[in-house]
Amino acid sequence: MKLKTILLILSLMLPAFLFAQKGSLHQKLNTQYEQYQEKSITNRRFKHGDIIPLIKNLSVQKGFETKILGKSYEGREIYQVKIGSGNKKILLWSQMHGDEPTATMAIADIFNFLSAKDDGFDDFRERLLSESTLYFIPLLNPDGAEQYQRRNAQDIDLNRDALRAQTPEGKILKDVVKELKPDFGFNLHDQSRYYSAGNTPNPATMSFLAPAFNYEKDINRVREKSMQLIIQMNKILQAYIPDHVAKYSDDFEPRAFGDNIQKWGTSTILIEAGGLRGDREKQEIRKLHFLVLLEAFESIISESYAQNPLHLYEQIPNNERKMKEFILKNAILDQDGRSFKTDIAFKVREIQDVTARHFYDLAYIDDLGDLSIYYGYEEFDADTYIVRPGKTYTKVFRSSKQIYTLDLIKALREGYTDFIVQKLEDESDRLRLPVRIHLEGEAFNNKVYLGNNPSLIVYRKGIPQKAIVNGRLISLEQNARD
Ligand SMILES: [Zn+2]
Repeated sequence: MKLKTILLILSLMLPAFLFAQKGSLHQKLNTQYEQYQEKSITNRRFKHGDIIPLIKNLSVQKGFETKILGKSYEGREIYQVKIGSGNKKILLWSQMHGDEPTATMAIADIFNFLSAKDDGFDDFRERLLSESTLYFIPLLNPDGAEQYQRRNAQDIDLNRDALRAQTPEGKILKDVVKELKPDFGFNLHDQSRYYSAGNTPNPATMSFLAPAFNYEKDINRVREKSMQLIIQMNKILQAYIPDHVAKYSDDFEPRAFGDNIQKWGTSTILIEAGGLRGDREKQEIRKLHFLVLLEAFESIISESYAQNPLHLYEQIPNNERKMKEFILKNAILDQDGRSFKTDIAFKVREIQDVTARHFYDLAYIDDLGDLSIYYGYEEFDADTYIVRPGKTYTKVFRSSKQIYTLDLIKALREGYTDFIVQKLEDESDRLRLPVRIHLEGEAFNNKVYLGNNPSLIVYRKGIPQKAIVNGRLISLEQNARD
């Protein structure tokens, strides 16, 4: 090959090489994520008291400015963390709904990233912080987080308080936005894990929205930028969670913050953390937030998002409510002396203890009938099986401790799913075992109807093969051969 040809090929490859280097920010961040992950936060139910020390630590770090913006209704401080000196102002606020914590965890990781050095990202940080100024309001609703509930201590939904600003937390956000007039705003939430990405079996792990600013859903330049940045973020996420990204309905909500902040001139991006198989505590989704938010900052300073054609936004599948926790499909239900074919779908509700730090799942039947258009996190095809309500063990036990000593799989194979005790050692004993435990005198039944949480036995040729207890499938097969 002639030298000239080689040079030509090299010069053609150079842009691709540069692009690959640039495009690999998230890959490098992904490889090094461990070192930024805030180790003191390991699950969703952290509180104000867990976050404040992290923010106070930042106040002594070079480049960070922290200040108290005000206090929640119950008097908890709400902080702003500022870093950078660039012209592009980026504001992020998380957890305006107290039980929507995923992005707060990611923000803690981003703080660690921004305060790191000599990790291969010095150039990126320098560029980011000289071209943009980042403002974070982590945990906007600390009173809600304390109870792990959506609303604040006034029982008002902050996200319907953008106009009236009658919640101290909502007023704080509104004042900051009005004063700063940020170029970009990230409105960080969690959504139900029962949303799917379009009509697929994939949960909508992350959903986006460029909120409308009027009922007509007009697209001006402010909103167009939000859409273009969302396209950018979606591209990156496809490498990690292909077909698990969706977009939220853009119906105008005149009382919501996202819609109003868009209207007030800030390009606003709503991010909703949804579900992902095997990631109940959302630690994987937390990492995805970390990656994609830093990539979004990069895209804002380089303006790479501006290349994205809007039809790619439309192509992101809609959030659909197609997910269930568990679906027993094609079962013949034998109940009350009659039998019919039905699918049985369960969902779960998180029941928490008084500290709001621990929870257990309580299942309930969400739907019955032909559910062939729905998908379960778990499914079992019970075609050729017969399902019957489980039986209650006739003996009453003194305490739940005794149940722990029994051969419960053997009991399930005999059709017994429910046990009655005179004393519960611990409230969570009710649901901790592969059988249900009830207090003597308490009413319960194992009939299949909406809202109930029946224990069921799944038979084949008269032999119990599976049990369903608290919405979970339990295998009863003697061995793999039958
Ligand atoms: Zn929310």
